[in-house]
Amino acid sequence: MQQHSESEIRKSFFNCTKGAAKRLNLPHDLADIDWEREIFLGWIDPKAPQSGYIVVETEAGLRGIVLQKNTQKTKGGAQMCQLCMTLHPGSGVSMYSIQSTKSSKDHYNSVGTYICADLRCTDYTWGTKRPAGIRQMEETLTPEDRAERTRRNAAGLIDRIAQKMA
Ligand SMILES: [Zn+2]
Repeated sequence: MQQHSESEIRKSFFNCTKGAAKRLNLPHDLADIDWEREIFLGWIDPKAPQSGYIVVETEAGLRGIVLQKNTQKTKGGAQMCQLCMTLHPGSGVSMYSIQSTKSSKDHYNSVGTYICADLRCTDYTWGTKRPAGIRQMEETLTPEDRAERTRRNAAGLIDRIAQKMA
């Protein structure tokens, strides 16, 4: 990614109100982010662990979405993150719902998908984080190709939400 300022990040959110985008908690280490290495920016709200955020560089510019972690326990077995394709056992992956309306009054209108529980797909894609005790699919892709796939999947998710809201 390119480096982005706090105000650019806040402005990128489109599935919440402007007020909510102004108030949401950014990662506290924004200054320490290694932007070049980030495939997309994903973080859990440091003050509200059920809320997460994803900010992606798309063809339409920088776009961000708010996600809500589904608190229902996923039933046993491994699940695959739909963005970075990492297999996680148990709680390593979460079902996230993403509101596809601007106002939280229309909660029924949302999209659900499995994503790494900590939203650190960047680290799983580059292999600096690995889920313990599970074998990943054998893949012949280079790390760069994997990173591009993760970016495309994240941009695709953003597009899906944007289209539902259009
Ligand atoms: Zn992931």
